[in-house]
Amino acid sequence: MADVALPEDPDNLRKELERYRLVVSELQGKISKLEEDLDAAATMAEVPTVVVTQPELRQTLSRLIKKVAMIVQAEKVMLMLYQAEPGELTVLQPALGVSEEQASQLSLRADEGVSGLVFTSNKPVIYNDALADERTDKGKISLLRIRNGICVPLAIQQRDEEERVVDERVIGVMHAFNKRYDQDFNDDDVRLLEMLADQAAAVIANAQLYIELTEKKQELEETFESIHSGVIVVSPRGSIRLVNPAASRMLSLLSEELVGRPIRDSIPEPKVIELFDETWKQNKEVQKEIAIESDRRIYQAETSIMGDENGEMHSVVAIFNDITELRQVERMKTAFVSTVSHELRTPLTSIKGFIATLIDDTDGIYDDETRFEFYHIIDQECDRLTRLINDLLNVSRIESGRGIDVLLSQVNLSELAANVTKMQQGYTDRHNIYSTIPEDFPLIQADADKVQQILDNLIGNAVKYSPQGGDVVVSAEDEGETIRIDIRDHGLGIPHHHWDKIFQRFHMVDDDVDHKAVKGTGIGLYLVKHLAQAHGGDVWLDWSEVGEGSRFAIRLPKQPNIDDRTKESARAIGR
Ligand code: ADP
Repeated sequence: MADVALPEDPDNLRKELERYRLVVSELQGKISKLEEDLDAAATMAEVPTVVVTQPELRQTLSRLIKKVAMIVQAEKVMLMLYQAEPGELTVLQPALGVSEEQASQLSLRADEGVSGLVFTSNKPVIYNDALADERTDKGKISLLRIRNGICVPLAIQQRDEEERVVDERVIGVMHAFNKRYDQDFNDDDVRLLEMLADQAAAVIANAQLYIELTEKKQELEETFESIHSGVIVVSPRGSIRLVNPAASRMLSLLSEELVGRPIRDSIPEPKVIELFDETWKQNKEVQKEIAIESDRRIYQAETSIMGDENGEMHSVVAIFNDITELRQVERMKTAFVSTVSHELRTPLTSIKGFIATLIDDTDGIYDDETRFEFYHIIDQECDRLTRLINDLLNVSRIESGRGIDVLLSQVNLSELAANVTKMQQGYTDRHNIYSTIPEDFPLIQADADKVQQILDNLIGNAVKYSPQGGDVVVSAEDEGETIRIDIRDHGLGIPHHHWDKIFQRFHMVDDDVDHKAVKGTGIGLYLVKHLAQAHGGDVWLDWSEVGEGSRFAIRLPKQPNIDDRTKESARAIGR
C-alpha cells in the first residue's frame, strides 16, 4: 500500500470510494449467489435418485421440501402431481406448511389456477400479490393464507448422449408460498426452484417406476407361488431357474435347494426329464401325460419355449396339471355304463323269463300260489327297473345343470317310512327292516316322491351292504325347525377315507371283496345328496365302523324355503 499514490482531491477520493463500494456490493451479491448455488448443489447431492419404497420416497421428498423452503425462504412448499385418472393435479404428501386436510381440498383440474397454467404451459409463474393476481384461485389462496408464491413445472427430461434434451414430460408442479420477512419472490428464486423441481421430478419418476416394477414383480411372484398348476422353468443348459410350490409338491422336490442345479440331478422322475429332452431336441412344445407311480397320480404336462428377441431359446417352461380325478371319473363313467347295462338287463331278463313261463303254461301246470309268486317277482323287478331309470333321469337332470324340481305338500314321515320299510322287507328274509317313527311325528312340507326316493335309496343300500342280514332301523327326531332321520344297519361299514367320497357320483367302496361283490352303480348317494339339498336339507354318513355297520343321517327343514328359480323351473317343465 505504501507506494500507492493517494489522490489529493477529496472529490476524487469520494468518487473512488463510491466505485469501490459498488465493486464490493457486486462482489457480495456474487458471493451470496455462489453460496445459494452451492447450497442448492449440496441439496441435490443429498437427494438420492434411486428411491425404492414408498416410505423412502416420503422421506426423501420431505428433506427436499425443507431445503427448498430454506433456499427460497418460503413458508410453505408443496408438490402437486398429475393423476390421469381423474385428470387432476393433487397434492403429494409430504408438504410443508400445508395440512393433510387442506391438501385434500387443493386438488384441481389440470387446466385450473396457477397450477394448471404452469402444468399446461411448462413455464414458471411468479406472483407477488396473490389476492390481486387474476391467475390465482381465491378460495385456495385464502385457505392456505397465501400472500405470494412461485410455481414451477415438475418435468422429466430425456437426454441423448450429448446431454441434449430430446423429450420432456410434465408430471406436476412445485409451489413455494409466502416469502419470509415480507419479501417478494424474484427470478433467482424461480431459477433455484426450477433446479430443485427437476431433481424432485427425477426422484418421483424413478421411485414411481421402481415401486411399480417391484409391485408387479411381487404380484407375479405371488401368482407364481399360488397357482395350482406346477411350473418348472429350465434354462437351455438344463439347469433349474424356477420351481413353484405346486410343482415341488407334485414331484416331491425341495424347491429351495433346486434353483441353479441341473434337472438331471434334481428331479427324480425320468419322464419329466424326457419331457424337457424332447422339447429341446424337437425345438417345439411337447404335451404328455405323466403318471407318477409313487403317489398314483396322473399329470397333464405341457412345455413351452420362451425365446429372446433373436429367436434363441431362452428357457423352457413346463406346466403340470393334476388330472388324476378327471381320469378316475372317466374310468368310473365307463364302468358305470357297463354296470347300468347289466343292471337294466338283469330285471328285464327275469321279467321276460317269468312272463314266457306263464305264457307257455297252457296246460296250467302252475297252481295259483306259484303264479301269484311269479306276478309278485315281475312286479318287484318292474319297480327295480323304474327306480333305476328314475335315478338315471335325475342324474342327467343334475348333470345338465337343470337341478331337481321340488313339489311341496304335507308329508307324513311316519307313514312314508312304514311304507318304504314294508316294501323293502318284501325283498328279503335275512333282514329285519322297521321304522320307529311314531304316528304323531310332526308333518313336514316336502316333496313326498323325493323323500321316498331318499329313503328307498338309503334303506336299499342298508340292505344291499348287509349281506349277512341284521336289523335295518329307521328312526326320526324332531329338532324344532328341522327334523332328522337316521338309517342304521349292521352291515359291512365304510372305511373312514371313503366317508365324503361316497356322495360323489360313481364312487364305490372297492377296498374289500364283500363290497365288490355287491352290484351297484355309484349314483344312489349322489342323488340322495342332491334330493336332500333341493329341499334345503342335507344328508351325511353319521357313523360307520368296518364290519359293524353304518348310520346315515338326513336333515330336512319342516318348512323349506325353496327359491323362486326352482319353482319357476318346476312350472316350466310342467310338473
Ligand atoms: P351303489 O349303487 O354302488 O350302491 P351308492 O351311491 O348308493 O351307489 O353308494 C356308493 C357306495 O357307498 C357304494 O358303492 C358302497 O360301497 C357304499 N355304501 C353305501 N351305503 C352303504 C352302506 N349302508 N354300508 C356300506 N357301504 C355303503
